[in-house]
Amino acid sequence: MIYDYLVVGSGLYGSVFAQQATQAGARVMVIEKRPHIGGNCYSHVFEDTNIIVHAYGTHIFHTSDADIWRYVNRFAEFNRYQHRVLTTHRSRVYSMPINLGTINAFYGVSLRPHEVEAFLAARREAIANPRNLEEKAISLIGRDLYEAFIRGYTRKQWGCDPKLLPAGIITRLPVRTSYNDAYFDDLYQGIPVGGYTPMFERLLKGVDVELESDFLADRAYWRARARKIVYTGPLDAYFGYAYGRLNWRSVRFEAQKLASDDFQGTAVMNYADEDVPYTRIHEPKHLHPEARVSPGVSVVVREYSLVDNDRPYYPVNFDEDKEKLARYRALQAGEESTLFGGRLAQYRYYDMHQVIGAALKAAKVELRREQPEAVLPV
Ligand code: UDP
Repeated sequence: MIYDYLVVGSGLYGSVFAQQATQAGARVMVIEKRPHIGGNCYSHVFEDTNIIVHAYGTHIFHTSDADIWRYVNRFAEFNRYQHRVLTTHRSRVYSMPINLGTINAFYGVSLRPHEVEAFLAARREAIANPRNLEEKAISLIGRDLYEAFIRGYTRKQWGCDPKLLPAGIITRLPVRTSYNDAYFDDLYQGIPVGGYTPMFERLLKGVDVELESDFLADRAYWRARARKIVYTGPLDAYFGYAYGRLNWRSVRFEAQKLASDDFQGTAVMNYADEDVPYTRIHEPKHLHPEARVSPGVSVVVREYSLVDNDRPYYPVNFDEDKEKLARYRALQAGEESTLFGGRLAQYRYYDMHQVIGAALKAAKVELRREQPEAVLPV
């Protein structure tokens, strides 16, 4: 059988596209290089515990878009988890993102909200047009807070000097003058009860899925199986690295089972200092307060960051990448029977809700073009 779409990659973009196309009556096959579905959202029950672990780091779903929230709720029941992050700096624990509690604890003061602006203004350095992450951070919060909470963490996380990184990365984090320590401001937030994998199983219901299948290893074979390709792998790999490699940040995880009810009292503890080799420790049982977990056992996962272009997770976006990216994007125009989507194929630091939004939009455009008469419910 010739499929209408061969989707390469079973992460969020590929799975949402596959779901939408299947719902519209198209024949869809998904192929996945890894031995499991779900891309970096993949979750599993850890060994002989009943603790759900997000295999590629803590994933919290958050959005303010009611349509996207409604959409994901068709495929999963979400728990009420609200993300809070703590960070350890010189053996003391502070809350992130930087808020009134962080500032007061760090400086040993007891400012009130209306005093924060003047307090920070006296510590900020005037940088008219911040050109990189360091300049941007110093212009927002001053050098002390930057050096304590941002510089070491960012160096560890991105494997380079924050001066080489785009300013935009730091604007992902708000700075608050209140004690609000919620990590996300979005209207809707939660984690699928039972983890992400069952949600992907529901998204991919009725879709043929082949695991451990590498599109790039045998393009001719896979191309012959479908009219169109939806490619969600790395953009540079698709074009055989014709213009060189894009820079990608990668992550390595070390999981460990502990005979302890509670190792750190929270789901994510960041480590701001460079002498600690990992960036953060995840303790997944805190992500699923609704789950019944046997007492006396926990799992902790240490996260290490590295630049590894063979295991791409996050686009880095150095200046050299911008040029390459423009050239690769120009090549895409010649690929009429391939659609490109998701973090890796678009080389964009997408959050989960953004990837879903992009996939829903692309699917709508594509399916309207192919089947103008079909009724397309989202
Ligand atoms: N960041 C930091 N210290 C922290 C947390 C974040 O310096 O304790 C910076 C760091 O540069 C990071 C960016 O803020 O890359 C965005 O953080 P976020 O938590 O959004 O990263 P993600 O969870 O997507 O890896």
